[in-house]
Amino acid sequence: MISQTRDIVQRSLDALLEDEHFLPELQGKAREQAFTSLTAILSTPNHVHKSYLRVPLQNGRVDRIPAFRVQHNNALGPYKGGIRFHESVNEDEVVNLASLMTLKNALHDVPFGGGKGGIIINPRDYSDKELNLIAKKYVQYFSDVLGPDKDIPAPDMGSGEREMDWMMAEYKSIHPGYPYRGSFTGKSVVNGGSLGRREATGKGVFFTFRYMIHDFIHNHKNLLTKTDNIFAKTALTYEDKPLTIAVQGFGNVGSVAALEAHQSTHLQNKVVAVSDRNVTLRNEDGLDIPALIEFTMRNKGDLPTTEEQLREIDVKAEISDREDVLYLDVDVLILAALEDQIHGDNMEKVKAGILVEGANAPITTEADKFLSDKGVIIVPDILANAGGVIVSYFEWLQGRETQFYSEDEVFRMLYEKMQETLDTVLPQFFGDPFPLRQNCYIHSVTKLSTILYRQGKLY
Ligand code: NAD
Repeated sequence: MISQTRDIVQRSLDALLEDEHFLPELQGKAREQAFTSLTAILSTPNHVHKSYLRVPLQNGRVDRIPAFRVQHNNALGPYKGGIRFHESVNEDEVVNLASLMTLKNALHDVPFGGGKGGIIINPRDYSDKELNLIAKKYVQYFSDVLGPDKDIPAPDMGSGEREMDWMMAEYKSIHPGYPYRGSFTGKSVVNGGSLGRREATGKGVFFTFRYMIHDFIHNHKNLLTKTDNIFAKTALTYEDKPLTIAVQGFGNVGSVAALEAHQSTHLQNKVVAVSDRNVTLRNEDGLDIPALIEFTMRNKGDLPTTEEQLREIDVKAEISDREDVLYLDVDVLILAALEDQIHGDNMEKVKAGILVEGANAPITTEADKFLSDKGVIIVPDILANAGGVIVSYFEWLQGRETQFYSEDEVFRMLYEKMQETLDTVLPQFFGDPFPLRQNCYIHSVTKLSTILYRQGKLY
């Protein structure tokens, strides 16, 4: 995954170097030099902050816990990105995720740069009291480099609104009298979090392919029918057709995306399969998603795994292995569980014509190329799962203004923003030979490069 981001950025820069319409005022040696600067800037972070948090534990031991804050690029605004609480998180991974945030924010015109943090712990090994102390220590150790106008963390794997509430409170204690609500996003609503933040990523995931297939294609029929583009041909086969949808992962992202699909009855879409860490559940006639969500809420997030549990909630479904969801003959497969789910060993078994990346990097580089060459449309993570960071931006705005938006306003603004991005990248995608991922990267890199050039940073 790390090399994948760098490779795509480099390919985007190579394409721009050859494009005579891009920064035409830069010619000859000056152009080459500017592009060398761009490669250096985009492939390396501005800062890697590293500390060992000194945390007294309840058993009397004092641990030194490694923690990072990576600030990749702030050409567009303050650094922004989550803090991952995970035992296998490492510096390279955090650097890569921070650079993805730079590109994601640039793509969606969110006025933030890219950052990411990590704390190397398994949160299950610590008591709530110890986790509270770890969260507070993180803010103490990095307090000089964090802040509403410098670097704004959010939750990531292993952290949630509880940790963000703790961290914001610590930031407030360290900086009395200064604005603090914009210092962290993903907070609880009562602590200044935004309505709609929890559902934002899943709703955005559904919106991206719904808009592409049901709106964009319809409104741009001329463009799509006239081109030889392989992805345009795939897209046209789904136009005005009720879609069958399978969803891998039934957590925050997957369950919300599945519910959106289930509720879009006017589109006659059917969610025919969902899965989680234990099972795949399948029903050709469509699954009762609200009943399944209700079940997961009572069962620590897990889907039913037995016939008896299905009978209890009156849901009809076939139960099979968790991996089966990946190979079903469906129109759309939403990947909302983990990274590296479709790879060299299983890519030939995938039958869906549209894959949507709700999780980060669920498709490896090898599988991405194999499927794209066959004309499978892959809606990449950078495009599909940006709902979370977009609503984080709204949370930051609300914190600054101390004016709060209704849930309807939040979703309306979210869809407007995502639609703007889709209207920018889709015409190119259906017109030129690049997969959508490359197209999105070219757009982000173009924006960042132009801004860096205008700011006089390319020398
Ligand atoms: P979550 O923990 O709420 O849900 C994860 C789901 O995946 C659960 O249903 C779990 O059972 C399932 N799962 C775990 N291992 C699995 C396996 N091997 N096979 C099939 N299913 C498996 O997480 P989430 O917040 O829904 O996030 C899902 C993914 O999306 C993560 O990769 C996350 O990094 C990414 N993401 C999340 C957000 C967000 O706002 N939540 C934003 C961007 C990206």
